[in-house]
Amino acid sequence: MISIKNLSKKYTSENKIVNALNHINFEIKKGEIFGIIGLSGAGKSTLIRCINRLEEPSEGNIFINGVDITKLNKKELRDLRKRIGMIFQHFNLLDSKTVFDNVAFPLQVSGFKKSEIKERVERLLSLVELSDKKDEYPSQLSGGQKQRVAIARALANNPDILLSDEATSSLDPKTTKSILSLIKKISNEFNLTVVLITHEMEVIKQICDRVAVIEDGEIIELDTVERIFSNP
Ligand code: ADP
Ligand code: ADP
Repeated sequence: MISIKNLSKKYTSENKIVNALNHINFEIKKGEIFGIIGLSGAGKSTLIRCINRLEEPSEGNIFINGVDITKLNKKELRDLRKRIGMIFQHFNLLDSKTVFDNVAFPLQVSGFKKSEIKERVERLLSLVELSDKKDEYPSQLSGGQKQRVAIARALANNPDILLSDEATSSLDPKTTKSILSLIKKISNEFNLTVVLITHEMEVIKQICDRVAVIEDGEIIELDTVERIFSNP
């Protein structure tokens, strides 16, 4: 479903070249929960930003359902981003909008009718069990609740892929567990492919099917979670 071929990304800053990703190759299957783990600076964000094309690869190709997304025009890029939902460590909600309006926002941008937006937002809020908070503002919510709103928003356009960038890193262990369970439930229910980056083993152990270990821009290990964690 996602196939990454010979992907490299170099940044140039102050006359210095940083090889953030170095000839990376791997595939992610449809419906899979795929973890990418590595230390800070390993290249995780760069990889995820190449997949949603917030970053342009220096070399290589990324195929999503057979289409090379490194070669898209502006209109195709907009369509690609609708098929990819994203959640972040700091939730990135709009503080001046209610829970309902945060989730409605991507649907308004996509041009849905008011009645359809209402129906969809209500369905999404029920999915993340926040129907009773629809008129509250992000500042009135706990961290876990904010991330649930962000998940509902990420799913608004019915994406095929959910990218999670350290989405549980600022949550306590109990809330982390509940958010990961929710992501797993949604992935199973909708056959949603999840790519999750984290620096925490526990997160990988709890929900991932397979995991890639990234170090200095290279994948140094890739296997099922059972096999990676059974290695001596
Ligand atoms: P991670 O997400 O694993 O912490 P990143 O992908 O953010 O790693 O960073 C990988 C490497 O690329 C690091 O050495 C980082 O300093 C460098 N890097 C990331 N973004 C930029 C940028 N915009 N300009 C220059 N260097 C960058
Ligand atoms: P979590 O474990 O998810 O971080 P908290 O213990 O922070 O949850 O919050 C528990 C309850 O307190 C939630 O139902 C939430 O609505 C409420 N709450 C948290 N922060 C605030 C706040 N700033 N204002 C009002 N209610 C809050």
